[in-house]
Amino acid sequence: PAGPLGADASETLAALHRVFGYDAFRGEQEAVIDHVVAGGDAVVLMPTGGGKSLCYQIPSLVRPGTGVVVSPLIALMQDQVDALRALGVRAGFMNSTQDFDERRMVEAEFLAGELDLLYLAPERLRLESSLDLLSRGKISLFAIDEAHCVSQWGHDFRPDYLALSLLGERWPDVPRIALTATATRATHQEITERLNMPTARHFVASFDRPNIQYRIVPKADPKKQLLNFLREEHAGDAGIVYCLSRNSVEKTAEFLSRNGIEAVPYHAGLDAGTRAAHQSRFLREDGLVVVATIAFGMGIDKPDVRFVAHLDLPKSVEGYYQETGRAGRDGLPSTAWMAYGLNDVIQQRKLIQSSEGDEAFRRRAQAHLDSMLALCETAQCRRGQLLAYFGQDPDPSGCGNCDTCLTPPETWDGTIAAQKALSTVVRLQRERGQKFGAVQIVDILLGKRTGKVIQFDHDQLSVFGIGEELTEGEWRGVIRQLLAQGLLAVEGEYGTLVLTEASGAVLRRERDVPLRKEPKKPVTSRSGSSS
Ligand code: ADP
Ligand code: ZN
Repeated sequence: PAGPLGADASETLAALHRVFGYDAFRGEQEAVIDHVVAGGDAVVLMPTGGGKSLCYQIPSLVRPGTGVVVSPLIALMQDQVDALRALGVRAGFMNSTQDFDERRMVEAEFLAGELDLLYLAPERLRLESSLDLLSRGKISLFAIDEAHCVSQWGHDFRPDYLALSLLGERWPDVPRIALTATATRATHQEITERLNMPTARHFVASFDRPNIQYRIVPKADPKKQLLNFLREEHAGDAGIVYCLSRNSVEKTAEFLSRNGIEAVPYHAGLDAGTRAAHQSRFLREDGLVVVATIAFGMGIDKPDVRFVAHLDLPKSVEGYYQETGRAGRDGLPSTAWMAYGLNDVIQQRKLIQSSEGDEAFRRRAQAHLDSMLALCETAQCRRGQLLAYFGQDPDPSGCGNCDTCLTPPETWDGTIAAQKALSTVVRLQRERGQKFGAVQIVDILLGKRTGKVIQFDHDQLSVFGIGEELTEGEWRGVIRQLLAQGLLAVEGEYGTLVLTEASGAVLRRERDVPLRKEPKKPVTSRSGSSS
């Protein structure tokens, strides 16, 4: 149903009612759609679930010609197209999963002007043959989905996206709309530059997801903690549990199933059939839990995901926001829950150090991780910190729906504890020329004569046993926070602890170190004696 250019508002609204069956536009949708229908370029930032698809689908229906949608989500194209066809929209796709005949048919439909929407993988646009095909048909607009993939600074860079800047040169009269759910101001800027859209209008929806409750708990026995969380708050609910490794995905899914919670694994190591089966069960059934690596979730549209749990630390705030954003798309109360501990910090720092990227890549990865750690360690409102990260002004009085607002964490003056921990690292380094990981440092502080302490004569160090006032868990918390604050660093494949430039000021007593109290204090106390 192609209409004349400059369609009036009633035409877009009619398409919304007639084709999609919705009553009204949401948020910025209407403004975006009017702008694109009138032929303008647009950069659209909307959180996951915000309703980005309609922003290009409706203009594609209203403007004459085919809307060409560039999307990296090849696995979902078939589903997206099927869903549109079921609504009576003339949609097709072209990607590497098709055979020759299927592709020929879509090409013919496009050339005959029989498609409202054509989905393409970005790599197609590197082929002269595809560009040639496009120039032989009539295009109503280009939609560039997941536009943050063009950003080399982002967490999901795809080189094929860089070639998309040529769309504007080759089709100067066709409006372009770039859409993403994950963008800081810097990424936003980069999208505009790299896609060469200097005159685009920018539409930024609020990143706040008020119905999601954010909680980050200290990690002790993560599987058990997860089980308790699910039993107490989300019995029978559908949700996603993210783990870093395939192995922990498998183990966690087994553990939940054994304990009466229906859970299936999802990771890139499973064959395509199993993955597809688990994904469609998740979409169709009520109350299924998917335990997954980050391979799961992009583009998944299930409105009633009641929780997203992280058993391992995401690599960036963008990743965290995108993953947690899969909860509560229906607007009902939902939980973003994460267990986080010292080993997460060490593991991620080690991963960055041993990565194959160059120095600039590592520095960027480090910066991403630091922002994530700051979110974990903050004593302020988590939502406020998230919104500030995305360039939005948070409510200064807090959100009332995150763990730090609901139970404000206590802070304590950790200056002396920090000095003790740092001195231990210094002693080992200066007196012995040795570097050790967190376990050994904590054993020395606590005065534990373990095999490894005896082996290295560490009970002879002057710092041996100077930290008996804190428990093991508390010391791990101190070290984790020192790492997060950049007062300690991790080195090498064994994750040994070393000082940073900033550590000096603490050792020289030139600065204080406020620390967050670990909420659940282990009951064991070693205090009493000073032997
Ligand atoms: P995004 O791509 O931003 O993550 P989608 O475009 O997939 O979001 O939309 C999320 C959900 O909201 C979908 O189920 C969609 O059908 C629904 N939706 C979008 N716009 C509207 C609207 N105006 N009224 C009702 N539902 C809408
Ligand atoms: Zn809050």
